[in-house]
Amino acid sequence: MPRLALHWQILLGVVIAAAIGVTLNITASTRETRADLGAGRTLIALDSVDRVEIKIVDARGEVIDDQQYVVDPAGQTQVPRAFLTLDQLRAKEPAIYRLFYDHARSTARTIGDVAWAVGDLFLRLLKMIAVPLVITSLATGVMGMADAGRLRSLFGRTMLYYVASGALAICTGVILVNLIRPGELGEQVQQVAAESATSEGLGPTLLRQLRSMIPENPFQAVAQTDFLGIITFTLAFGIFAVLVGGRTLELLRELFQAGFDVMMRMTMAIIKLAPFGVFALMLYATATQGHSLFQRLAWYLLTVALGLAFHAVVTLPLFVYFFGRRNPLKFAKQCSPALLTAFSSASSSATLPLTMDCVENRAGIDNRIGSFVLPLGATLNMDGTGLFEVVAVLFIAQMDPNINLTVAQQFIVAVTALLAGIGTAGIPSAGLVMMVIVLQAVGMPTDRVGLILAVDRILDMCRTSVNVWSDMCGCAVVARYETFVSRDAQSSERSA
Ligand code: ASP
Repeated sequence: MPRLALHWQILLGVVIAAAIGVTLNITASTRETRADLGAGRTLIALDSVDRVEIKIVDARGEVIDDQQYVVDPAGQTQVPRAFLTLDQLRAKEPAIYRLFYDHARSTARTIGDVAWAVGDLFLRLLKMIAVPLVITSLATGVMGMADAGRLRSLFGRTMLYYVASGALAICTGVILVNLIRPGELGEQVQQVAAESATSEGLGPTLLRQLRSMIPENPFQAVAQTDFLGIITFTLAFGIFAVLVGGRTLELLRELFQAGFDVMMRMTMAIIKLAPFGVFALMLYATATQGHSLFQRLAWYLLTVALGLAFHAVVTLPLFVYFFGRRNPLKFAKQCSPALLTAFSSASSSATLPLTMDCVENRAGIDNRIGSFVLPLGATLNMDGTGLFEVVAVLFIAQMDPNINLTVAQQFIVAVTALLAGIGTAGIPSAGLVMMVIVLQAVGMPTDRVGLILAVDRILDMCRTSVNVWSDMCGCAVVARYETFVSRDAQSSERSA
């Protein structure tokens, strides 16, 4: 039997996992439990996708000392120990979470937890190779470029692309949220008093990014997976190796090339596991998500999804077609393993090894471009996140009759969202955290993030795919303008 191409295998994984997950979600996600805990105590629990209730009663059936906990993503429960997510319960009340985990989880949640554990192993493998892959790939690229002017133009074009595509994404978001006005449609969602979110503000966040571009200790940057610091040091190292030249350069070039070859082989081996990893992550996401809030936030979800779809299907392909001179459909197919992994993992950084593999080995873009544009993009270029943030903040503003944002304020939201995208890490939910900064920029209460918390996973999956897709389209665009002498030609020149 002919082997199915990798992207079909991954797609199949996504579809089958979603089908199983949704079936479990519908048929096996509710469970009521009564468990004897000994010493006259009984655990009474209800697990469902939309709500979890846990209480411990004594022999007379009375709740012991306020031992009553509720996890309610809609935030409409007024008991003292109410949480918006199970993760919050786990962090604040580990013993109670443990009781729930051991005795009261529904079948869907139990399977979802196992799937998460498996998917997480796959993500760990990807994270394990990301840093050495970026270092060897970038160092090999820079040393092969051997021309500072080249590097400058590559940097300039890359930044220009990031800003242009990010700005267009945000404009799409602003226009759609003002056309659809999701905050004024549908049933009002009660304001949630989430724990007051804190953040350090836009200025300090951008300053932190700038500072991390100059790592005090490059090894610390490596240890903390701080891509910006890693990139600066590796770039500098490569440039200075070229300046030193001679035997030193030759040696280093060979050394890094050898390291890169090994890392690429390792990447390709790990990528073979992608269909299983993606299957597990998708199963987790679909088996355990609540749906009642989805209905109430439907207009908001629709607006973000439409915006992301427009950016991914219209704007970015136009870049690929007109500036990259490539067939966008073919290019998307070549990029699909990375896009599907981004979707299921909700992490640009974890997807990075796949992104690099797709761009270089499937789309045939020079490694010197991929190794520069992609790691930088995974940290700085976040079109999907920027778009999501404007829509979310303006949606929250529309829902509150006391808030009326002027055009100037909307402009501030848009610019802040663009900058917040630059400050967002490529990990799950990072965009939600950065939203606090955008809310602060126009003086809106930051606890409103709680309103959209419960439906964030699915949007995170979508915006991460768009983030990764934009990085890859950037490669196509930049590659068109950068022509390199092939490295084989260079080495034969050297040996001649
Ligand atoms: N999860 C996104 C990413 O990794 C960031 C975000 O939360 O928006 O690209």
